[in-house]
Amino acid sequence: NHADQGSSKISSLSADSHKGLNRRFIIDKKMLTALDHNNLQVFYQPQLDIATDKVQVYEALVRWEDEELGSINPDELIPIAEENGLIHAIGAFVIEEAANLAMELMKNDQDISISVNTSVREFGGSSQMKEKLMGILKETKCPPEKIQLEITEKFAFQAEQEQSIIHQMKVLKDTGIQFILDDFGTGYASFRYMQHLPISKVKIDKVFVNSLLTMSKTKQLVEGMILFGKSMGFYVIAEGVETKEQFDLLKEMGVDAVQGYYIGAPMKRDEVF
Ligand code: C2E
Ligand code: MG
Ligand code: MG
Ligand code: MG
Repeated sequence: NHADQGSSKISSLSADSHKGLNRRFIIDKKMLTALDHNNLQVFYQPQLDIATDKVQVYEALVRWEDEELGSINPDELIPIAEENGLIHAIGAFVIEEAANLAMELMKNDQDISISVNTSVREFGGSSQMKEKLMGILKETKCPPEKIQLEITEKFAFQAEQEQSIIHQMKVLKDTGIQFILDDFGTGYASFRYMQHLPISKVKIDKVFVNSLLTMSKTKQLVEGMILFGKSMGFYVIAEGVETKEQFDLLKEMGVDAVQGYYIGAPMKRDEVF
């Protein structure tokens, strides 16, 4: 019978992958309630501008602590949210939190922007990023200049939606919102493609920073990435900076900003002030 076939299939999976599937299933099932009950949190990680030696930007990173599941990191949470469609609601939640924080910092005379990660999905479908973001900014009265959006190189693959996405980005950019290409170097963005995206900053992925001092080729690679970024007129950020040695070398190589545990780990909202 069918039930037997089902259970024999499951028992043929290793215990670990069974556990993984089960966890994924529970995360999926509990996500909406977690959102409704305000169980998702946003942490903020500082980004240091080299020229001014000041933190001008904090990156918003979503977190979920669950009694049963423990901590659910974005790398686990986001792909499931993209699949079940809750990515739109989560994205709106994070932008709203970011806009509220930026406003409070402004009232506190702190000139700081918040950088928000986005999924390409949020630019598609019926609820478009453009409308969502403009609505939140209007509601919170947050100036567009205070919000930056991070996109990843995966954007390059959304060929059917490319025109709509670039159009939304351009409209948002015209209002003062800046776009950052995150995880730079790990994807497949071509130079031609990067020329077309209305981005003003690139963030060199932490895998490169990680091996900067241990692999000679990485150093040359990062040097090339910085030169390329600058020649395109981009503000170049390096993420995942954990040591003074990495910091010093990146500074010497001419990056515009650094982010990582060496500068500061992601922190709770109240610690930003
Ligand atoms: P990302 O945007 O590249 O963020 C950097 C990740 O590196 C974060 O992990 C951060 O906590 C971690 N990190 C920061 N400094 C260091 C360091 O010095 N060393 C090391 N090894 N790691 C460091 P996190 O918070 O787990 O986020 C993972 C990814 O999930 C993010 O990568 C981003 O792509 C995505 N993400 C996070 N929040 C959101 C969100 O609200 N919406 C969407 N769509 N994606 C998000
Ligand atoms: Mg990011
Ligand atoms: Mg990154
Ligand atoms: Mg990443």
